[in-house]
Amino acid sequence: MSGICMGALLRRSGISTFTVFEKAERVGGTWRENTYPGIACDVPSRFYQFTFAPNPDWTHRMSPGEEIWAYFEKVAADTGVSERIRFATTVTEARWTGTAWAVTASDGTCEEYDFVVSATGILHHPAYPDIAGLESFTGPAFHSARWDHSLDLSDKRVAMIGTGSTGVQILSDLAPRVEKFLMFQRTPHWVVPLSNPEFSALTRRLHRRFEAYDRFSYHVSRKIIESLSPALLHPGRTRAALTWYIRRQLRRIADPDLRARLTPDSEPMCRRLIVSPNYFDAVQRDNVELVTTGIDHVEPTGIVTTDGVLHACDVLVLATGFDAHAYLRPINLVGPDGYTLDEAWAAGPKAYQTVAVPGFPNFFLLMGPNSPVGNYSLTAIAETQANYVLEWVGRWQRGEISSAMPTHEATEAFYAEVHQAMPDTVWATGCQSWYLGTNGEPELFPWAPERHRELLGTVQDDDFAIAR
Ligand code: NAP
Repeated sequence: MSGICMGALLRRSGISTFTVFEKAERVGGTWRENTYPGIACDVPSRFYQFTFAPNPDWTHRMSPGEEIWAYFEKVAADTGVSERIRFATTVTEARWTGTAWAVTASDGTCEEYDFVVSATGILHHPAYPDIAGLESFTGPAFHSARWDHSLDLSDKRVAMIGTGSTGVQILSDLAPRVEKFLMFQRTPHWVVPLSNPEFSALTRRLHRRFEAYDRFSYHVSRKIIESLSPALLHPGRTRAALTWYIRRQLRRIADPDLRARLTPDSEPMCRRLIVSPNYFDAVQRDNVELVTTGIDHVEPTGIVTTDGVLHACDVLVLATGFDAHAYLRPINLVGPDGYTLDEAWAAGPKAYQTVAVPGFPNFFLLMGPNSPVGNYSLTAIAETQANYVLEWVGRWQRGEISSAMPTHEATEAFYAEVHQAMPDTVWATGCQSWYLGTNGEPELFPWAPERHRELLGTVQDDDFAIAR
């Protein structure tokens, strides 16, 4: 998604001398990799699109994954980015030569580029649980991002480990269509129900006819989501009201025992808030069993919990999330004097204002560390960051710079502010989640998304070591 964004903005500014390296045969990133049943985006579609590529044809308030994937394929084709993509090619190394980046790829090529932009996404390295005996299971077993569509699950007992955003979507869609659904929950998550109405033909026609109306809807959705940011960022009335509302939703669970087992002991929104139109109905179905006893090991026929009970199943789904801290690694990024990204990030990923790393000239990240991901629209963040990168590329094109990288001082100053602001955020109220970096601090942007736009709206020359 972010690579398409970068490519489209480059093309719009008249630059075609770029290559997008894509490891797979098609574009789409997370929307290509994740095709599990029930996949949808929980950010409203009107706001989960690029401002330069409005889509009047979204079918739902929160459209299904397949539709989002088709949207990104269309944007890539319409903007001419597709022509610049080298498919089925993995970048293995990018090495600074002193004047440019030598990029080595799996097709055996090594080519020089003036800039390297990492647009590798955040959630693309599946995390597999370390559970004894997992490989001994005799039925199909797969990660949610590697869904096996050849299986007919209608007469199957499906066991799923993991109850995050992915697990909730899978349960909600699949439970009514299988014989039995066993959901293994280690820690309960907060879930808010939000209806997902279909857009009428008239609405779609209006969006098609009046682009200004589409732009208006984008900004309204953005405003609504941004109006909730005080709840995430500061203790106070907005957080208290939202917390109260989210807690109340559990009343939809009729059985007090089930409700108790589904009640998290962390603050609502400390982990990514899960939004689902039908989770509360699905989890109360007769063919759904919630297992909250810890998993001891897996046997050929099922999962054994610590109380010694064997939970027999035919199919095992691992909705166990992703390694969110790898970013572009294992690509070997080597800056001047052989300084590697692994060395720079030995104590955990860090980026100047989310987009650049000291020691690596003309290198930028989209969706880098501390980007304001949370429950915000990633297309909007990608666009802000890609426009920032474009600003540097423009300077280079005009001959104003030959290379630029942020200073250590500016990056440390940014992190000093991050550390100061983070304790006030809801993400620091004490919970485990993929938001947390190795130092235990959330790897998020501790201010409103508007501040991210403001920060990246102007290039601060003083924060950079610039070679002319
Ligand atoms: P996740 O939020 O990291 O959840 C992983 C789940 O697996 C958790 O319930 C975790 O339990 C469980 N788990 C992991 N290892 C386990 C083990 N060894 N034993 C038992 N349980 C284990 O991953 P996700 O659901 O794939 O979601 C990741 C992110 O993707 C989301 O936060 C969101 O940003 C994005 N996403 C978005 C949408 C959308 O609609 N926009 C949809 C899906 C995903 P614990 O909670 O105890 O750790």
